[in-house]
Amino acid sequence: MQVFSSITELRAYLAAQRSEKKTIGLVPTMGALHEGHMSLIEASREANDVTVCSIFVNPIQFNNQDDLVRYPRTLEQDCALLEEAGCDFVFAPSADEMYSTAPSLVLDFGALETVMEGAFRPGHFNGVGIVVARLFNIVHPDRVYFGQKDLQQLAVIRRLVEDLAFQLEVVSHPTVREEDGLAMSSRNRRLGPEERAIAPHLYKALTEAKERLLNGERVDDVKQIVEDYIATIPAFSLEYVEVVDMYTMQPVDELQSEGNTAICIAAHLGAVRLIDNIVF
Ligand code: AMP
Repeated sequence: MQVFSSITELRAYLAAQRSEKKTIGLVPTMGALHEGHMSLIEASREANDVTVCSIFVNPIQFNNQDDLVRYPRTLEQDCALLEEAGCDFVFAPSADEMYSTAPSLVLDFGALETVMEGAFRPGHFNGVGIVVARLFNIVHPDRVYFGQKDLQQLAVIRRLVEDLAFQLEVVSHPTVREEDGLAMSSRNRRLGPEERAIAPHLYKALTEAKERLLNGERVDDVKQIVEDYIATIPAFSLEYVEVVDMYTMQPVDELQSEGNTAICIAAHLGAVRLIDNIVF
């Protein structure tokens, strides 16, 4: 496995791979890797000749400076995990390397980002879109891998690929969870032991909401039940719970007949912001 921090060097190595007609899979991450990330690496390895994992805590997608400063950075451990998983190239640029020119472009994903993460984290998807577009243009992957854990991000990236005609396939992968149901996340490392014990209630609330919706209960009533449930646990501060179409991200009043419904939730637990969703 080779680790690059230079865009020029990575490009040169990947050009050589491409000239040998090798296919390239890209897994963009912000590091502090866990089994969720590794499931994407594994999927890329199965489908491509070469797998590139990028590790970059992208400053322009953070609307909260404290979250950016406290974001876990564990490059050495990450590289050990990636090596073990058979990843071929790691791209871990500095912010200066990635943004030697500050982007002037501003991306607007319209209705896709007027709700949930887009509404609560202004500018977030502009930052995600710019860094992902840069990574696509640096790596020129055949396939890119993203987790359903960040469902709205997935919808935004599909849109970006369509709007800018990137010649690649977007592959999504289900959320990998801890045994108690908590969605794996780099931010989980920042939970104290008591918070960690409480955190799985988010997934519990989602699974119960799903059952209720499938039993024909009304969307508004189910959302209220989730809000009331989370409110019984004082450590949580709920940001939103939404029932949406998983492709348009628009809130729905009733279950979709095609089964494209998702329940999405975001809450603060102490100083840590957690998100999760279930698609059904
Ligand atoms: P991040 O490092 O948090 O930016 O995530 C990098 C990629 O890993 C994104 O596509 C995420 O959706 C995905 N990911 C994060 N957590 C999980 C998880 N628990 N299961 C599956 N994919 C995940």
